[in-house]
Amino acid sequence: MAKLKFFGGVDQIGGNKILLEEKGTRILLDFGQSFDFGTEYFTGWLSPRGINGLGDHFEFGLLPGISGLYAKDQLEKTGFPYCEPEISGIFLSHGHFDHVAHICFVDPKIPVYLGVGTKLFLESMEETSNFCDYKDHTYRTFRTGHKIKLNGIVIEPVHVDHSIPAAYGFIVRTKNSTIAYTGDLRLHGPRRDLTEEFIEKAKAAEPDALICEGTRMALKENRKNYSELHVEQRSNRIVSSTDKIVFVARYSRDLDRFRSFYNVARENKRKIVITPKSAYLLSKVTVDEHLNLPDPMKDEHVLVYFKRKRSGKYDDSDYSPWERPFMNKMVSCDFVRKNQSRLIMDLDFYQLAELIDIQPDAGGHFIHSMSEPFSEEDVEEEVLRNWLKHFGLKFHQLHASGHLNRDQINKLVNDVNAKQVFPVHTENAGLFRQTCKNIKLPKREREYKI
Ligand SMILES: [Zn+2]
Repeated sequence: MAKLKFFGGVDQIGGNKILLEEKGTRILLDFGQSFDFGTEYFTGWLSPRGINGLGDHFEFGLLPGISGLYAKDQLEKTGFPYCEPEISGIFLSHGHFDHVAHICFVDPKIPVYLGVGTKLFLESMEETSNFCDYKDHTYRTFRTGHKIKLNGIVIEPVHVDHSIPAAYGFIVRTKNSTIAYTGDLRLHGPRRDLTEEFIEKAKAAEPDALICEGTRMALKENRKNYSELHVEQRSNRIVSSTDKIVFVARYSRDLDRFRSFYNVARENKRKIVITPKSAYLLSKVTVDEHLNLPDPMKDEHVLVYFKRKRSGKYDDSDYSPWERPFMNKMVSCDFVRKNQSRLIMDLDFYQLAELIDIQPDAGGHFIHSMSEPFSEEDVEEEVLRNWLKHFGLKFHQLHASGHLNRDQINKLVNDVNAKQVFPVHTENAGLFRQTCKNIKLPKREREYKI
């Protein structure tokens, strides 16, 4: 009999950490960090100290005490004994930090299984960020339909559509049980067919347990239920009706969103201006032709914005080695100022100061293509509004979620028709009971027999 234990993603969005065990073989599905991780004890620059390994986390019970999982050096200051690996593999559904971030504490002897694309995303994060280090691991990449056998357990990754490429659900077969895990998924993105294929396969597998995400399981949703196509069409309307500059704030790794704005730019004979970080990520993932994305080095519609750094004179030596290859496509604030009617430019919140150098003409547009703020008193929201007012830019909110809406979740759960359903990645697990049968509300660290 297989056993499931949930160490994260329970009554919270993100932080999925799901342990599956049968006859001494143990695997983990995702090992991420929740969005509210540690906020009771840490804030801003007060954060867990790297020098103390897992010591600061264990002090407040922020990570579970699982034996045979963590790296030796991470446990040194904790009193938690190190032992040789007792986990056969960690399976990552996709590259978002709420599914992967905590692998940095894991024993490098434990293999980490992940999509070919997910590996590229993790590498890109490490190479372009000063704060990201997943540490050393033995990575084993998979593609959809592969079957990975670990002792008696067979894990089949099946692609799904989500707001980052290379996202997967898993169908796991143990000797006596079948478990389907959705990861994060949606049906209103450009690759709806991938999610449909996962649902079909999960249904055909007649699972004993379905572990289902419920990010948007809520009585009432205040946000707009846009699809990716809606976002593209509405952006197109904004861009086609102005001769002023259009700025866009989007999640850097949401390449479907990049593609939407790239299409809008071409449609309106504009060029799209991206950051060196985005250019680096794009040039890395364009090797995967499935993604149908432009190579920023070659595509004439893509330009790369360089901020002034160090010398302030755009010297090669001002920039990191990974940024320099894109200097061939470099544009500066002067170029942007002189070509406002011909550009769509990425500009996220932390780059707003570039507006001071660009000095855009009043009447331009700012499309906030990310989730709306979670609270009324969001400080960043107010600061953003002040900047836009100062420069006379018009604010637009246009975003499509990476997750199924409530009706789609209900339909998935009822279609798959598993004997037990465990809602995860949700603050409203109880709502599943109103419309679906066989719902088991998981309790953190309790064991469930499948
Ligand atoms: Zn995600």
